[in-house]
Parts: sequence; C-alpha cells; structure tokens
Amino acid sequence: MAMLSFSGFCRLALPLAAATLLITPSMARHHHRLYKGHVPPASQSAPPAQETPATVPVPKPRPTVMDSSGESGAGNRKQDVRQQPSANGESAPQTPAVVTPPPEKPAEPEPEPPAAAPLPPEKPAEEKIPADPRSAEVPAEKMPESETACRERLKALGVEFEEHKAERDAEIGCSIPYPIILKTLGKSISIGSGTELNCRMAEAAARFAADVVRPAVKAEFGADLKVINQASAYVCRPRHGGGKLSEHAFGNALDIASFTLSDGRTIGIGPAPPEKDGKFLNTVRKAACGPFKTVLGPGSDPDHALHFHFDLEPRRNGGTFCQ
Ligand SMILES: [Zn+2]
Repeated sequence: MAMLSFSGFCRLALPLAAATLLITPSMARHHHRLYKGHVPPASQSAPPAQETPATVPVPKPRPTVMDSSGESGAGNRKQDVRQQPSANGESAPQTPAVVTPPPEKPAEPEPEPPAAAPLPPEKPAEEKIPADPRSAEVPAEKMPESETACRERLKALGVEFEEHKAERDAEIGCSIPYPIILKTLGKSISIGSGTELNCRMAEAAARFAADVVRPAVKAEFGADLKVINQASAYVCRPRHGGGKLSEHAFGNALDIASFTLSDGRTIGIGPAPPEKDGKFLNTVRKAACGPFKTVLGPGSDPDHALHFHFDLEPRRNGGTFCQ
C-alpha cells in the first residue's frame, strides 16, 4: 500500500512540478534522485507526510520512527536490564547507591534541636551586680572607737551580750568584723538565743523594743513585753538568682516571728491575725519604718508572710523601703 501510494504520488508530483515550476532538466534529475533515494526507506508513509515534503531528509525518518517505536522497547529493555543486574548483582553499584542515601538523611535533622538553646547569653547579665564593699571588711587589731562606743550604749540600755569572733565568708561575701550575740534586748526583754548581729543593728533593735514595742504592748494588751522571738539574725547564704546579698549576711537584719507577753500570750505575725493582734502588729510595723531602713512582712512577698524583716541597709539620702 505504501509503495503504491508513494509511487503514485511521485508520478503525479513530478509532472506537476515540471509543468508549473518549469524546472530545468538538471533540477528535475536532482529531485528525481532525492525521491529515488527516498523510495526504498519509505516503509512508513506517515513521517514524510507530517514533515515538510520539500526538505525530505532521507536518513531522518528511520531514526525518528525507530526512536518512537523503540523508546518503549528500549525502555522496557532498560528496565529489564536494570532489574536483572540487581538480581544478578552484575551492575550492583547503581542499586546500592540509591538505597544507601535515605537512611543517612533522617539522621541529619536530629542534631538541630539541641543546638537551638539561646539561654546562656541571658544568665551572665544577671550576675553583673557589683560586689558589696562590706564583704571585704576584716577586723583590725584594735576595735575601732565606733564599735566600743556602740557597746557602751548597749550597756547603758541594759542589753546583755557577748562578743563573737569575726564572721567572714570570702566566697559568698558574708562578713561581720565585730559581731555580738544578744542575751537580752534590755531590762526584762528577752530575745531568742543565737541572735548574732553587728552592734549598730543590735542597738537599733534594743531601742525599738524599749521605745516602740514595749509601750505598744502595754497600750493594746495591758501587759509587759517579755520576749521577742527572732526567726533569724546573721545568716550566711548564697544569693538567690544572682541577686544582691541579703542584709542578714552582714548581721544587719533581724527577723521577728512573734512577741511573748507577761501574761503568757503570744502575738504571732501572720497574714490574718486576730483584730486586736493585727492592730498591735500594724502599729509596730508602721513605727519600724524610719528606725529601720527596710521593713517587710505579711503582704510584702511570700517569703515574709510569717515574720517581720527589719534591717539597716544603707540607702541614698537616708531613704527607707517599707512594704
Ligand atoms: Zn529577714
């Protein structure tokens, strides 16, 4: 069929071309050669019809046809070849190279999460609080006149006390060059044992007990103040969260948990005291702001819910911090 149709086409095309275009004999021969050469391979009529018949490249039709028809066959062959070597193990390098990469990839994303930890830069900033100069204080060979004078005033107030060796912890920063341990806060006013303070703080506590607490107890309860129960005095403990060192580290603070009266009653410090106790405690707390530079208690923060904290922390312009 193709042979007949093509030969018929040539028979019709040559005369028409010669007649219409008036081709020279040499041109006609050339054309004839081309068509002659084109005849034998033209087993497929489709390619020449689709392509422009003017160019008529002879060798091209075969490869194009072979490719179109052979791609599927070649693809099948290639797939077969690939599958066979994998089974035979001849061309093994191709299949193992494809298999190995997947296990390596999942291992890579794991190391990323631990690397994302931007916390370290924030911590060093908290520790930039300057050291307290009191941490470097050490006792001299001879007690300073200020310290001896303070002791004379304590004796005049009727305070009983003992001398204690210097306190110093260079690592934490605690220091009391000339500490004392109180036995009483004055005539007939006792204080809990182990009340170690610097002399100035001891004097402030003794004066406050005699001048404020004792009159307030008398006025509110009609009794005498017998004991001031301290919760803590000198305490050397590391600073919390990089904050400044507590005044307790310098024997400069006194925590009071309760007051014991001559009639045996105890007035405890807490968030919800009885009305009469509350009135007394508020009087004492309010009067403490001034003689002491820091006054904290129930309502200030959770740490001071059950005691008063009084201290003599030095502040600018003699200011106070009372909550
Ligand atoms: Zn305290």
